[in-house]
Amino acid sequence: MNRHPMILFDLDDTLLNTNKIKQELYQRLARLFFPQNELETSTGKARLLYKKFCESNGGVYEPEKFRGFLKDIFGPNCKIESVFEFNYQPYLLPSAKELFTKAAEQNKVLIWTQGYLPDQQKKLTQTGLITNPDSILDSASLEANLDTLLAKSPVALVDIEKSMKIKERLLYFLNIFPRHKLTYIDNQAHLIKAALEINEHRLKPIWFKNGRQKNEETAKHLWENRNEASLQIAVNLEQIGKHLSLEGRVSHERERG
Ligand SMILES: [Mg+2]
Repeated sequence: MNRHPMILFDLDDTLLNTNKIKQELYQRLARLFFPQNELETSTGKARLLYKKFCESNGGVYEPEKFRGFLKDIFGPNCKIESVFEFNYQPYLLPSAKELFTKAAEQNKVLIWTQGYLPDQQKKLTQTGLITNPDSILDSASLEANLDTLLAKSPVALVDIEKSMKIKERLLYFLNIFPRHKLTYIDNQAHLIKAALEINEHRLKPIWFKNGRQKNEETAKHLWENRNEASLQIAVNLEQIGKHLSLEGRVSHERERG
C-alpha cells in the first residue's frame, strides 16, 4: 500500500527558540526580584524559582500559576505582569517558518506540543505557524475534536501529558492515521528513544539535537551510539529539510539578534 506521509513537529526548541525565551524570562525575573545581585547570580536564582515551580506543577510551565507562585513568595503587590508580556515571533528558529511551510505543502503536518494551552496558542499564532485558532486543539478535548485532527493540515495539538504518555500517544496516532507513515521530529532525546522503542515501520523519528535536554544521559547515549540507518539526526533545520526530502532547498538564514 502506498502510505501518505505525515509529519509530527515538536514546537519548543524544535521550531521555536524556547531556550532563549526562558533566558529572557529569567533575566526579567532577576532584575525585578534580585536587583541587588550581579546578573549571573540573580539569573541563577530566577532559574531555580522556575525549576521549582515546574516540578511542583507536574513538569509543566503555566504562566498563570507561576504568577501565583511568585506572588506567594514576593507578596501580592509585586509588579510581575510585564515580565510575562512576550511577543514570540522573533523567537522562531532561523528558517523554521520556511521549513514548516514547505513541509505543509507536501505532507499532512501536525505540531504536537507539550504545555499549557493559552501559552502554546500564543506561540503558534504569533509566529504564524498556525494562523487559524480553530486548528489548535487541546488534548483534553481531543476525542470531541477528532474530525479536525483527521481533516486539517497544518493542525496543532497541545498535549499537557505529551512526555508522560509519549508511547501511548504515538500508538494512538498510528491507529487513527492507518494510511499514513509518520515522521516524528523532536529535540528531546528521551522522547525520540521512546519512539524508537515502539519499533514500528510506519513511525520514523528524527532527532533534532537542539536546546537543553531534559534527560542528558539519554541524549549522550543516542549521540555516542548514533547510526544513521536506525535514526536520523539533525543539528539544524536545514538538515531536517534534507531528511524529509522536501523539494526545493530550505536555506539556512543567520540567526537574528
Ligand atoms: Mg521540544
